[in-house]
Amino acid sequence: IKEEQLQEALEVAQEQVDNGAQIIDINMDEGLIDSEAMMVTFLNLIASEPAIARVPIMLDSSKWSVLEAGLKHIQGKGVVNSISLKEGEANFIEQARLIQKYGAAVIIMAFDETGQADTYERKIEICERSYRVLVDQLDFPPEDIIFDPNIFAIGTGIEEHGDYGKDFIEATRWIKNNLPHAHISGGVSNISFSFRGNNPLREAIHSVFLYHAIAAGMDMGIVNAGQLTVYDDIADDLRNKIEDLLFNRDPNATEDLMAMAQDLQSQAKDDTDKLAWRELGVRERINHALVHGIIEFIETDAEIAMNELGAPLEVIEGPLMDGMNIVGDLFGDGKMFLPQVVKSARVMKKAVAWLTPYIEAEKGKQKSNGKIVMATVKGDVHDIGKNIVGVVLGCNNYEIIDLGVMVPAETILKAANDNNADIIGLSGLITPSLDEMCDVAALMQQKAMDLPLLIGGATTSRTHTALKIEPEYQSDTVWVKDASRAVGVVQQLLSSKDRSTFGAKIKAEYHDIRERRKNRNSNKGLITIEQARDNGLQLDWSQTPAQPAFTGIQVIDDTPLSTLVEYIDWTPFFQTWELHGRFPDILTDEVVGESASELYRDAQAMLKQIVEEEWLQLKAVIGIFPAHRDGDDVIIAHEGSSHRLLNLRQQIKKPKANLCLSDFIAPQNDAYTDHIGAFAVTAGHGIEAHVERFEAAQDDYNSIMVKALADRLAEAYAEYMHQQIRTKYWGYAKDETLDNEALIKEAYTGIRPAPGYPACPDHSQKELLFDLLDVENNAGIELTSGLTMYPAASVSGFYYAHPDSQYFVVGKLSQDQVKDYADRKGVELKVAEKTLQNNLAY
Ligand code: SAH
Repeated sequence: IKEEQLQEALEVAQEQVDNGAQIIDINMDEGLIDSEAMMVTFLNLIASEPAIARVPIMLDSSKWSVLEAGLKHIQGKGVVNSISLKEGEANFIEQARLIQKYGAAVIIMAFDETGQADTYERKIEICERSYRVLVDQLDFPPEDIIFDPNIFAIGTGIEEHGDYGKDFIEATRWIKNNLPHAHISGGVSNISFSFRGNNPLREAIHSVFLYHAIAAGMDMGIVNAGQLTVYDDIADDLRNKIEDLLFNRDPNATEDLMAMAQDLQSQAKDDTDKLAWRELGVRERINHALVHGIIEFIETDAEIAMNELGAPLEVIEGPLMDGMNIVGDLFGDGKMFLPQVVKSARVMKKAVAWLTPYIEAEKGKQKSNGKIVMATVKGDVHDIGKNIVGVVLGCNNYEIIDLGVMVPAETILKAANDNNADIIGLSGLITPSLDEMCDVAALMQQKAMDLPLLIGGATTSRTHTALKIEPEYQSDTVWVKDASRAVGVVQQLLSSKDRSTFGAKIKAEYHDIRERRKNRNSNKGLITIEQARDNGLQLDWSQTPAQPAFTGIQVIDDTPLSTLVEYIDWTPFFQTWELHGRFPDILTDEVVGESASELYRDAQAMLKQIVEEEWLQLKAVIGIFPAHRDGDDVIIAHEGSSHRLLNLRQQIKKPKANLCLSDFIAPQNDAYTDHIGAFAVTAGHGIEAHVERFEAAQDDYNSIMVKALADRLAEAYAEYMHQQIRTKYWGYAKDETLDNEALIKEAYTGIRPAPGYPACPDHSQKELLFDLLDVENNAGIELTSGLTMYPAASVSGFYYAHPDSQYFVVGKLSQDQVKDYADRKGVELKVAEKTLQNNLAY
């Protein structure tokens, strides 16, 4: 939402509904989002998606104004989440009245002026009082009241928490008996919070809890329906013990459960450790090895299967493909996750590699479902996403011809022709790659090709594909959101039965996107650049800004890798593997926890090797230079010449200020000189040897792993260097003591915006940065024609030190600013529009 990828947000909603959600909860409470406006926009979008709009909407906000804006824009009956007596009765009544007027239902939290209800007495006291106010004073329909009497964690070891479960259940019973028609809801997973890390136990607790709470009258709850054990399937002694805990009838229940939980977990572990599956038949063993990604026995089993079946090809097309089909189905059903699939593929590849020498030439090659040529486009070096998609497609028996990174259009098309490919897939990470993709599409058109074209990668989007790429090429052009969608898309495109319907559906969809774009008032909500400048941030420059301890350039190449480990932000690491959630909670997540923990263990093991065996070499160059602001630009002085850094200004109507990074630098004056800093860091030197080693061993899992870890180390290096800048090189925050969590939350003073990111979306400003710091010589990082950095595990940016400087999103620009920017840059308007294409409002 922050990046205005609303289409993607809609897909999330759609997915939830497809997976059986009965209500969708929408929350726009985020510092950088104009919550009210976004709530309205998003609700309007949902209203025109019949597949989503069929379920009721729960408006979720802690701000009343957002809830009310939402109420004005939902169709049918919605639910407000939530109101309470927290700020007194008058406020409560006023809000309830409005909710009633809008015809919505409401969640009432058991919360009043003195706090949240934690005992049975307090729960019923607050719920009853709320109910009486609503029903007696306001004539609020009681069936529209949903109480949330607060589910709190039990088994915490604190005596006062012992009754939390029982009190919720008893309060539920009392409410159902005494407050007619009201409903009860609650967040179920809270109850087992203190057993984090043990999902089998948590699931059992949830089932037991729900069993009793539902019997007492609980109507609805927030729970992962796929992760519930059947009450009757829980072993008697475990169930009794959970009930002892839930009803607080045994002071030792928590301890006993912990002990049982240990058993439960080690039992689960034992089960997988045990080699019982080795007793199965060879086909089943191959299935097992593929599904569990176990590599040890696969060659032996492949040999046995070959002897049994008589031919190596039979093994590939028989048990191995069968096993991969199971993996594909489990992944498609959300029962297996990406890291596991990549591990399965490794088993498959190893088996195929072992069998290949036995396949006689005349018998030809294994029949695949289709051939796909894949490449990261010219000017771009990022390939983690592309490799993952390749592995997933490979698992589904598509033959992948991977051309690697920085591949010119001609080479891609030639490879497709030479290999008689069925599909071309293009990948790219940063904005300039989008243009390159348009060029590839245009070239395909020029050559009158007919192969479907797939588009994927971080800055690609359905909207951009529809607006810019698809019109270039008459055959099917399809945007693929992530690896989990790739198989479905490819299947349909390669089926003679489905291709035309699927193609027509996509074409119609993209056509609609273009039409909608045409019809929208392009500058809606934007102010002119003059108005935006008038509303720029006015800082007080009367005091001398913090003066740096040194100016000029410094090369740093003695940072030990071990220093960076504690600076790693792990959340994006899991995103790379398509596991979504915040670290460390993701390790105990009900759905992906197990998969995430296994991935994390593997990552830690490799990280240890990277550090101990020095697989990667760190290099950094930093600089601090005299600078002053000139309009929306920053003039940087270095070695006797001056350089102009171009910045852009927000044009969306802003209540406070329309920000531009230049606002954080002082204008020229006689009293003092202000400064700006710059940096480029890399953790990518030395990686190639390891990538090659893994690829030679058919080990995509570890090849992707080492790249993902190098990326993490590069970001950690940027974090670490920034801290060094604050505490030492510039020294404006010498006494700073922030832990990694605070660093990740950007609690530090000053910012390090990176060209190409939201506050400064023009990637070409990296050219200036590379010039200033002579990055190529000083850190060995190259800037490609597409303005990506090579090695890929590199980060660069500018330092702004002013205490009021902040990260922000420039967002949409209207043509007046783009024209002005083109003039300042000395380029044609067209060129500037290309550079800023993702930000154009027109
Ligand atoms: N902790 C995260 C940081 C990701 S953001 C991680 O480890 O992946 C990557 C970089 O983008 C930051 O280090 C910062 O240099 C820059 N950045 C963040 N927000 C920005 C914004 N709004 N505009 C410009 N650059 C930004």
